[in-house]
Amino acid sequence: MSKIKEIIEYILHIRKKSMNVNKSGLYIAFSLISVYALIMSVVCFFSGDTIMGVVNALITLFMILTIVVFSKIRSPKIMSWSVVIFLYALMVFFLYEGGVGGVSIMWLLFVPVAGMALINLYYGSILSLLLGITVPMYMLTPLHGLGYQYTEEYRIRFPIIYWAFLIMAMIIFVRLDKAEEEQKELIRKADASNHSKSEFLANMSHELRTPMNAIIGMCEINMREDMSDSVRENNESIYHSGKNLMNIINDLLDFSKIGSGKMELSCKSYSFSRLLNDVINMTVARKGDKNIEFSVNCDPDIPDLLYGDEMRIRQVMINILTNAVKYTQEGGVLLNVSYRKEKYGINLIFSVKDSGIGIKSEYIDHIFDVYSRVDAEKNHKIEGTGLGLPITKQLVILMNGVIGVKSEYGKGTEFKVVIPQAVVDETPMVSFENNECTGVICYDNLRKIPDFMAQAVSGTYEKLVERFNIKGTVCENFESIKLAVDSGSYSHVIIGRMEYFRNKQYFDELSNSMCVAVVQERNGQLPLGENITNVYKPFYIKRFCDIICKPVNGIADNNIPESFTAPDANILIVDDNPTNLRVAMGLMKPYNMKISVAKSGIQAIQLMKRKKFNIVFMDHLMPGMSGVEAYREICRMESDSEEKTPVIALTAHAENDVRELFASEGFSDFMSKPIQLDVLKQLLVKWLPEDLIVMKKEQNDE
Ligand code: ADP
Repeated sequence: MSKIKEIIEYILHIRKKSMNVNKSGLYIAFSLISVYALIMSVVCFFSGDTIMGVVNALITLFMILTIVVFSKIRSPKIMSWSVVIFLYALMVFFLYEGGVGGVSIMWLLFVPVAGMALINLYYGSILSLLLGITVPMYMLTPLHGLGYQYTEEYRIRFPIIYWAFLIMAMIIFVRLDKAEEEQKELIRKADASNHSKSEFLANMSHELRTPMNAIIGMCEINMREDMSDSVRENNESIYHSGKNLMNIINDLLDFSKIGSGKMELSCKSYSFSRLLNDVINMTVARKGDKNIEFSVNCDPDIPDLLYGDEMRIRQVMINILTNAVKYTQEGGVLLNVSYRKEKYGINLIFSVKDSGIGIKSEYIDHIFDVYSRVDAEKNHKIEGTGLGLPITKQLVILMNGVIGVKSEYGKGTEFKVVIPQAVVDETPMVSFENNECTGVICYDNLRKIPDFMAQAVSGTYEKLVERFNIKGTVCENFESIKLAVDSGSYSHVIIGRMEYFRNKQYFDELSNSMCVAVVQERNGQLPLGENITNVYKPFYIKRFCDIICKPVNGIADNNIPESFTAPDANILIVDDNPTNLRVAMGLMKPYNMKISVAKSGIQAIQLMKRKKFNIVFMDHLMPGMSGVEAYREICRMESDSEEKTPVIALTAHAENDVRELFASEGFSDFMSKPIQLDVLKQLLVKWLPEDLIVMKKEQNDE
């Protein structure tokens, strides 16, 4: 009894819930009834019962009309009540008419299940209960005499069977409904906690980035000062650990955004050669003094101006390259970059192959799982969080790309990534003018590097020579170089450092009549002869172009002057945190600019009323007036003036949406904290008036 009470209470409790009618289910049910009525009509005609034949034919027609009418009803409530009334009328008709030998009445047994599944639990129960009252009222009273003549047994058993079906259906559907409710509640709770978790992580990462800004910035400033070797070493340790910690904080932030589905791409046009250059420089920096080779094999015809999320592509490439360098103790790492033309632009294809520790076959399927630091016993000395590859994979998927890995344990690993990108301009990464080069002799002892890299390096030489239509030869020993030089048909010689020092005198003399370039590591470079061109590893297309001719397009290093000052530039830095102000001022010190500071938006505005600044760096979150409010006020102040002051937003929030917020507010640019020196330099060059920039060289000349 208590069970029935509970069921009834539950059904009444859910009556206010707005539940949609399962329309497709209804149409299927009505179509079945109309087919059944059609068959009955044919059977009745053939058995001579014309009246019932006509009635069933009318039912078929009526059912089809009903489907049409129902398809027009938009309100779920009206629809539900219409279905209840309609089905009730139909079932009462079946009860009255009995069909052939009382078969039609069987339809009534489907009503509880079909009603609760098709209309919904509340309206389905009303319909079933209405019939639950009607059936015994008809069968057990003289009313049954009006229609089909059921047998006595039939009239007693049918109401019992109907009620058994009804109670069973109610129990099942109430349970299902409760389970669904509980599931929805759990999902709601999980969503809410996920949301607060990502909000917490975003806030925490902001809070962590602010002091990190001070630590990394102060270290950078210290490293410019004179100090003893041990203090410098300690300082560098703090600096590198700080940078590592920043990377982990960034990974955590990315991971939380991916988890909550908030990761968004920020697409714009960018120069691929510049991106590649940055990625290579960063990989070289991460490799440091590690005794492994890093080579790059890049197709020179990749279009330079692409459209996509440059930052995320860079992140993917750096993650994979950093792992390769990290997990390789001897041999080397090869980065292959190529492309394929597609209707939408190109598919950027890059692979990173290393001769490192490799991954066991049983781990390879888990390599992209979160926190999976596979083969822990072998890797325990290598730092890592196990977040890099899952983030990389999600970013690749977000960019509609694919990523794959193959590995041989103990021999090495290869990651391959394909990312579609739109092309803004078809001009290839490399094009030249003033090609004064007639031929190139390359000599490098390829035997000391792994086979796959040796093939790629000699392939690079051959491809470049072919691409630029110049004569080229790859020599295996010193004698063959001499022979090639003596032939007189070459203008350039490119050699490795070992080869140079073995025959230094010869090459120094040769450099008076030919261009001799020596390729060596950036770390621990040795002084070369006066006329020798120094080229940093890895030797790839950009270095080749640097040696043989003057590049016209893309490949030049960012066009940013190596060092400059701007003694007449007036800069305003606005930040409520005094340490951050000191860091920003310290980082800008080498540019010798006139720097003013303001500790709040209001103070900044007062200063700007009195003085004209060339750039304002404005912090985002400040007590009182926020950076955005201060910026709006500045815009109001300058609304009549022709010359607008560039205002660059400064923030420890690194998310794309914050970036977009600044862009939509109209800020000139955006710089995230901790301030990166190269970003600061780029922004100064971009926003300072050209006549205020004084090149360091010019100063020395004066
Ligand atoms: P981690 O921070 O541990 O490097 P990742 O998610 O980047 O985390 O990588 C997950 C695991 O995959 C690593 O712990 C390592 O065991 C394995 N792995 C990734 N790249 C390589 C590689 N190039 N060679 C060998 N093992 C690798």
